[in-house]
Formats: sequence, C-alpha cells, structure tokens
Amino acid sequence: MSRIGAIVRKVAAAHKYAVITDSNIEPLYAGKVESQFERETVEVLTVSAGEASKTRDMWSRLTDQMLGKGYGRDSAVIALGGGVVGDLAGFVAATFMRGIPVVQVPTTLVAMVDASIGGKTAVDTFAGKNLVGAFHPPAAVLIDPHLLATLPLRELRAGFAEVIKHGVIADEVYLREVASSASELLSAGGATSDMMISLIVRSVEIKAEVVSRDEREEGLRKILNFGHTIGHAVELVSGFSLLHGEAVAIGMALESKLAERIGLARTGTAATVTRTLQAAGLPTDLPRDCGPEAVIDAMRSDKKGRSGKTMFALPLRIGAMAGADTGWTVSVGDAQLREVLA
Ligand code: NAD
Ligand code: ZN
Repeated sequence: MSRIGAIVRKVAAAHKYAVITDSNIEPLYAGKVESQFERETVEVLTVSAGEASKTRDMWSRLTDQMLGKGYGRDSAVIALGGGVVGDLAGFVAATFMRGIPVVQVPTTLVAMVDASIGGKTAVDTFAGKNLVGAFHPPAAVLIDPHLLATLPLRELRAGFAEVIKHGVIADEVYLREVASSASELLSAGGATSDMMISLIVRSVEIKAEVVSRDEREEGLRKILNFGHTIGHAVELVSGFSLLHGEAVAIGMALESKLAERIGLARTGTAATVTRTLQAAGLPTDLPRDCGPEAVIDAMRSDKKGRSGKTMFALPLRIGAMAGADTGWTVSVGDAQLREVLA
C-alpha cells in the first residue's frame, strides 16, 4: 500500500491522477493513496458503493468531473476498489480522451483474483449486466492482501467461488489445497496471511494464462464461464439477493452435475466440486424460491442462450475443461438441464 505512489508513477507516468473509489473504501484507504502524490496532481472521485453505480450515468458523471477539473490526455486513473469500481473506472479510462492508462488496485478477493485481471471493463444497462464496455488492459494491477482485513466475511467467501473455479478449470492440486485451507483462510487473520497470498498468486496465474492465450474471448477464455451460465440466471432470479460468487457457486455445483449427467465429466467430479464449495461455506443448491423453470427462462435472456439448447463451459475432470474442438463450449438440451435443476 505504501508503495502505490512510486509504482504508479513508474508504470503510468502522468501529470494528473484520478483515484476512483467507492463510499465504503474511501474512508478506509483513499487518504493513504492520495498522500503518496503531490497535492495538485491527484483528486479522489467517490461513487456510492454497490452494483447500482456501474452505469452509463455514473460513467458520464465521472468523465464530466474529470473534464471540469482539467484532466487531459496526460492523466491516468487509479481504480481503488472491488469489481464495481474496477469495471467502472476502467471504462472511464478506456474512453477518456480515447483511452488513458488505468492502474487497478483491487480491494476485494473477487477483484484481486478475477475482475482486475484480463482487461475487461464495462457498465450495466437496463437489458443486463456488462453490456456496454471495452477491453482496456491495465498498466498494472497492484494487489495488497492486507486490504482484505476490512472486507466483510460474506464478500471474502464470495471471492472463493472464483478461486475454486480456477482450480476446477486448470489445476487439481491447487483445488485440493484450496479445499483444505479454506476454513483457516476464512477465520480471523486468514485473509491477510501468507497462505492467502499464495492462493491469490496461483489464481492470478491461472486467469492471466487463460486470458493471455485469448484476450478477446474467441475461444479458450470461455472456460472462465464455468458455473456462470446457471450462476448468472440464479443471480437474476434471486433478485440479486445472492452475491455473484454465491450464485456462481450454485452454478458450478449444478453445471458439474450436468457434465457428469451427459457423460462428459469423469465420475466424482461433481462431488469434488460440491465438497470444495461447501468447505468454503458456499451454497451448492438452488434456493427454495428459485424454481428450475425460472432459472431456465432467465438463461434464455442471457447472452449465452440459444433456442432449446444452451452452451456451457463444462469440466471433463478436475483441472481440465471440455470442448477443445468446439470452441470450449458444449451444447446441452433443455431436457437434460431440467433433470439436473429439478
Ligand atoms: P464490489 O465492488 O461491489 O465490492 C463488494 C463490497 O465490498 C462493496 O460494498 C464495497 O464497497 C466493499 N469493499 C470493497 N473492498 C473493501 C475492503 N477492502 N474493505 C471493506 N469493504 C470493502 O463487488 P466485487 O465482488 O468486488 O465485484 C463485483 C463486480 O465485479 C461485478 O460488477 C462484476 O460484474 C465485476 N466483475 C468483473 C470481472 C471482469 O473480468 N471485469 C470479473 C468478475 C467480476
Ligand atoms: Zn464471476
């Protein structure tokens, strides 16, 4: 944290910096970042915490504030926050004067292992999440796990869903380590421990490896959608009362069952996925108020839906995904999907 100023000046040299953050993070950390720059070269711009800020309206307000304060082409953005701030501030940077550098400083586990890696930026629209955005790789991603000390436990747990996803798609040994260390990492002091640092490092490696082989999601990157086809639908049907990671946990449990049911995944894969999610205290079943038909309907409206069939990123076994010959997705008919959701 104390080295952010020096590193940012090196990787994104600029005359003026905009630190974009949210209302929960600002009182905790914005001052520490701001104080590392000369007073007249930095401003903190704060949005209300929560997904509701990831809008075009907020994008235009931030952009207008920067224009009003005299930011020019020689400026840079520091995105200090979770995935909401990272996506929003990243999109501001992607479009401001046709693109200025952004340095991501993630403050949630979700943002550290997932949202800040890979260069996707976006805002939400009335028609769905992340529908307007740009690829804008950050000049750097600065991860300081000490920031996790203040993150609410439920948010920390939600981050484990993406960590577990990385294990399932790419690394069986890693998944076993995550399963055996989850309860310790989620108890007092765990979030800022050395063990957490190695977990974040391995997760970032896996995501970065996938993304570097397919930056624009033309193929391989689709494996990162494991758990997300059902997960996004569950998130929607829950009225966003479930956190993204919680919905994706349910999605991974069900999609791995689906992979076994259609004879794709090795027997036992779903049990391992479910056990690991439960070790992190994550849900693995559809909530009672989330009926199978509502989930299927919601999947239809998702970008990944195709009539009567749905494309999934599914495991062959722990550490290997299916679909190498078919663009890393597998088409599944509604009948089989219904059986698994029922
Ligand atoms: P978030 O940004 O809303 O943060 C969760 C909550 O924790 C917020 O209330 C926030 O104010 C608070 N918070 C953040 N850091 C804190 C800290 N250190 N101490 C105390 N409180 C803290 O949610 P998130 O889970 O980080 O991100 C979700 C968003 O990320 C979604 O919009 C999702 O679409 C996006 N996302 C993007 C990508 C990508 O590739 N671009 C990948 C995954 C998720
Ligand atoms: Zn996700």
